[in-house]
Amino acid sequence: MLPPPPGIEVHEGVALARHTYMRIGGPARYFATPKGLAQLELLMLWAMQQRMSFRLLGGGSNLLVADEGIDAVVVSLRSAAGGMTFEGTHVTAGAAVMLPALARAAAEHGLGGLEFAIGIPGSVGGALQSNAGIGDGRSIGPLVESVEVFGARGFQTLSRDEVQFDYRRSSLRSSGVMVVGVTLGLAPRAGADIAAEMRRLLDARSASQPTAEPNAGSIFRNPPGDFAGRLVEAAGCKGLAVGTARVSELHANFIVHDGVATAREVTALMAEIQHRVQAQFGVWLLPEIEWWGDGTRPEAFGPDPFAEVDEGPGL
Ligand SMILES: Cc1cc2nc3c(=O)[nH]c(=O)nc-3n(C[C@H](O)[C@H](O)[C@H](O)COP(=O)(O)OP(=O)(O)OC[C@H]3O[C@@H](n4cnc5c(N)ncnc54)[C@H](O)[C@@H]3O)c2cc1C
Repeated sequence: MLPPPPGIEVHEGVALARHTYMRIGGPARYFATPKGLAQLELLMLWAMQQRMSFRLLGGGSNLLVADEGIDAVVVSLRSAAGGMTFEGTHVTAGAAVMLPALARAAAEHGLGGLEFAIGIPGSVGGALQSNAGIGDGRSIGPLVESVEVFGARGFQTLSRDEVQFDYRRSSLRSSGVMVVGVTLGLAPRAGADIAAEMRRLLDARSASQPTAEPNAGSIFRNPPGDFAGRLVEAAGCKGLAVGTARVSELHANFIVHDGVATAREVTALMAEIQHRVQAQFGVWLLPEIEWWGDGTRPEAFGPDPFAEVDEGPGL
């Protein structure tokens, strides 16, 4: 094993449970927090030299990590890609900026467009790769003017036309690039109106989603023309449990636990839900959350649709 590049903070065996909203997950073999993009590049080369898998961690709000952890270099961009700059109706933000902070800063500049993001606890990078959004159809993709990425061709700026956004998907994810920053186009709006809308959205969340227990947001993607939560509830799964992981009584598309559940329990519960929904409605629910683990993927997650880009950045 080659030593890590000098001057870069790399820790061994860091428990990922501490870095995910689900509060579940064993250790990452290496966990690194580069201080800038030059260090990110060095880390990437270091991982490639040893044929180690390389994974970016954003806010950890859409992940389920295996109890055994992962044999990978996990990198957080929080010290490498923060900060935001406003110019007219545009904002340029680093990938590690959290969406609610960005939405609040935009509001302070009298700019609307990001109100929908106030309750999404992810980073800009994580949000772009999944085109994060809310149930009324608003999402981050349509606001994008350009995206700064790092991939096999080094650092590049992709124009709006070079990136495809669909329901909770983007070509950034499928091409395997790392997002390092973005420029979004916003629109002037009165601060009071923005604040009122954000309040309404946050209130609606607190009323309909479990906020006190660890969770990873929506577990399953909505199938075409329907809602995963409606199907899970109609299949009688509210309150269904495996070990201490259980389907939230408040929102059937959330799996919650009391802090000690394992990934094995969560994936078993997910598979049980999938089978019950399939048996009653003929629909196989696909996970919205992502699985991080080595070896065979749990049944609930199926084959990895992006397996070919798992070992490094694309484009
Ligand atoms: C309580 C709660 C409510 C939620 N509500 C919503 C909602 O309303 N709408 C919604 O869309 N989602 C929601 N989510 C899910 C989650 O917040 C979003 O999917 C978010 O965009 C994930 O961002 P993240 O930074 O946390 O990504 P992570 O969970 O850290 O990572 C997810 C994936 O993104 C990749 N990634 C992270 N950073 C980058 C980067 N810079 N470049 C490339 N890839 C990167 C990771 O490698 C991983 O593959 C919710 C989650 C929770 C816990």
